[in-house]
Amino acid sequence: MDSLESRPTKYIFVTGGVVSSIGKGLTTACIGSLLESRGLRVTAVKLDPYINVDPGTMSPFQHGEVFVTDDGAETDLDLGHYARFIGTSMSKLNNFTSGKVYETVIANERRGDYLGGTVQVIPHITDEIKRRVYLASKGYDICLVEIGGTVGDIESLPFLEAIRQMRAEMGADNCLYIHVTLVPYIAAASEAKTKPTQHSVKELTGYGIVPSIIVCRSERPLEKSIKKKISLFCNVDEKSVINASDVGTIYELPLLLHREGLDERIVEKLHIWTGAPDLSKWERIVDTLKNPHRGQVTLAMVGKYVDLTESYKSLSEALHHGGFANDCVVKVVYIDSEEIEKSSVEEIIGRETDGRGVDAFIIPGGFGSRGHEGKVMAAKYARENDIPFFGICLGLQMATIEFARSRAGFRDATSAEFHPEAEHLVIDLMESQRAVREKGGSMRLGAYPCILVKDSKAFEAYGTSTISERHRHRFEFNNDYRETLEAAGLLISGTSPNNDLVEIVELPNHPWFVAVQFHPEFKSTPRVPHPLFRSFIKAALEYRDARSQQHATSTKEAKVIEFSKKPEEGAPTTTKKTPAKNKKDSVKK
Ligand code: GLN
Repeated sequence: MDSLESRPTKYIFVTGGVVSSIGKGLTTACIGSLLESRGLRVTAVKLDPYINVDPGTMSPFQHGEVFVTDDGAETDLDLGHYARFIGTSMSKLNNFTSGKVYETVIANERRGDYLGGTVQVIPHITDEIKRRVYLASKGYDICLVEIGGTVGDIESLPFLEAIRQMRAEMGADNCLYIHVTLVPYIAAASEAKTKPTQHSVKELTGYGIVPSIIVCRSERPLEKSIKKKISLFCNVDEKSVINASDVGTIYELPLLLHREGLDERIVEKLHIWTGAPDLSKWERIVDTLKNPHRGQVTLAMVGKYVDLTESYKSLSEALHHGGFANDCVVKVVYIDSEEIEKSSVEEIIGRETDGRGVDAFIIPGGFGSRGHEGKVMAAKYARENDIPFFGICLGLQMATIEFARSRAGFRDATSAEFHPEAEHLVIDLMESQRAVREKGGSMRLGAYPCILVKDSKAFEAYGTSTISERHRHRFEFNNDYRETLEAAGLLISGTSPNNDLVEIVELPNHPWFVAVQFHPEFKSTPRVPHPLFRSFIKAALEYRDARSQQHATSTKEAKVIEFSKKPEEGAPTTTKKTPAKNKKDSVKK
């Protein structure tokens, strides 16, 4: 038998057909998870055909969340799916774009690497694509390669050509093509339609790629006859037509695909011998979601990109993970902070929850000044009313601004991101960012260590004093205000090891008010929920119980809010300049 090291990597290429947004990334992640559960070492690579060098410069409205890896790569949100479903940690090797491929090839050309040659899509671009895939797959039994976009897109052609060539290079036994497609249900005809799938497979075949497995996404489970038809027209055996019909929760998908026989087909076709997968953790998660012993908590996420929840993908998932850890389900109510600005926190929450209220607030990361005052109002509301509050990145900055205004007397406190000319920039551009001119890949990115203060909620949650978390920001807590804000009652519970950067702030006299400059959501997985999310959801549950107890006993002892539709008193806070009473000579750190 081959030694582990000499075993060749086997490649599973995942393409998409008919339309985008049918969950190709999630399907890829689930395949990875199933194969990993069979004891294989699995990695996954996402190939994005667009020209941006990475998604870091794209608006979340365009592209959804940017997922950040430990080594500081700004990547596609599908890497978040991979990271949550597969144990393997993702790095900059796991995602690349046409832009990045062309950037390398053009740099090679300028250096003179191809002297005398004409540089062309085939072989130069396709070779660079293959080189990157081979690099990312080193040391793994299985490398999943997902091609972004839909078959038929002009820009994905070089990628399809590269993966076609790989079969010739690596051998048919080591390469498998899976096509994920849509089988729409036409209500007027009461029928599921296979024609789009047939066309899409035909198109793929035209590029020289013959899929061996077809994963059919559908709203409702497909009849056997439909599978038979796809098998016949698309030239795959019937058992290899896998139906991924809609599931109640994404965590059911590995179980569904397994029941459909997907992992069995894959190992069969790739000639891999493994035992049956152990899926007990997924079963437990689905069980918690269906029968949560501790019911449901409701959170308000106050942000800017609330219409597109894809923008906060990892965060929303991490909140659910916190629920799994506490045997409850988490309902997230997305609140547009601009709505709050026009009205009040109480009124908007009341309106969005039919007067039921929420058990906690969360302010996610974000960029730009639009809607930031609404976020400050939400932080104030949570602080004053002892409602659990979790601030992430921009959320820490909002909480700090609010505290500086309300508790330390800096009425015009703000961030240099919104009002660079303001007097009291409690959040300022990081020193290391001052010389930055190019926007792409230039934020403070990736994992950094952080030292926790022993007597803090953060320490209590992590149970250790040195942690490592991922960052993506340009602005920071301004150290000039550290002493004053601490004196006013803010606890700085986490800093960089040299104590130069504030990474976590808390309110010691509040049930749970924690704000972090990093993005803990990138490290949370359903099987290993992140400690801060675990602790936050626990606090939300406690608040919920106190709230319902108060309703039951009608006492005024616990400080619990009645959410009504009545507007809050007082106008929204503004950042108008006030006389420079506490003016600092410098706002630099
Ligand atoms: N816009 C803020 C900054 O750049 C926060 C970034 C974020 O929330 N990721 O510092």
